[in-house]
Amino acid sequence: MIQENVQKILRELPVGVKLVAAAKARSPEEILEALDSGVEIIGENYIQEAELAFKVIGKKARWHFIGHLQKNKVKKAVSIFDMIETVDSFGLAEEIGKYSGKINKPMEVLIEINSGEELQKSGVFPKDAESIIRKAAGLKNIKVMGLMTMGPLKDDPEDIRPYFIKTREVFEKIRSLSIENVEMKYLSMGMSDSYKVAIEEGANMVRIGTRIFGERKI
Ligand SMILES: *Cc1c(COP(=O)(O)O)cnc(C)c1O
Repeated sequence: MIQENVQKILRELPVGVKLVAAAKARSPEEILEALDSGVEIIGENYIQEAELAFKVIGKKARWHFIGHLQKNKVKKAVSIFDMIETVDSFGLAEEIGKYSGKINKPMEVLIEINSGEELQKSGVFPKDAESIIRKAAGLKNIKVMGLMTMGPLKDDPEDIRPYFIKTREVFEKIRSLSIENVEMKYLSMGMSDSYKVAIEEGANMVRIGTRIFGERKI
């Protein structure tokens, strides 16, 4: 099933859109099946789960962190991941830069935008994105490569469209500023139910779990 799901998604994705297989709560065996079917990037939300999967799979995949990263987990995150998609404060960016410097592994990061401006959720508000990116651009050992957003949880993906549009506008605005050491290359938006809408609104990286692995049991 995983193989058919992956192949169908890969067939349908427009050229230039990267697929991140969101693997929370999936076993290393399930992840390996996705990799054997053509997935190249694995997204993980939890450091502990990622460590277990990384032990089995290692560098067969590229690893993206897509969860909420606590500062006390940064050291481990930096050793496993190739990209951290969820940087939501300058302090976190600094911490990532510190540890990537120590192991000489410059880290690509995306800035997470709280496009719904929901107080209980992480991410920087759209109006604050430019200032945090300008500050992060001055850090050694990290490189801002774009933006990520979840958007509010809605049953109808059409209701998330305005938040994807908002995030794409921020993305284009920041790209137009040509900030040194910042490359606005990736716009990570859209999940199983919303990735088609997200792509219509400019996403070039989508994070898909359920549609690859099936409904989550936990
Ligand atoms: C779980 C998750 C996804 C994928 O969600 P599905 O609805 O299972 O496709 C994408 N992004 C993030 C940040 C997630 O936590």
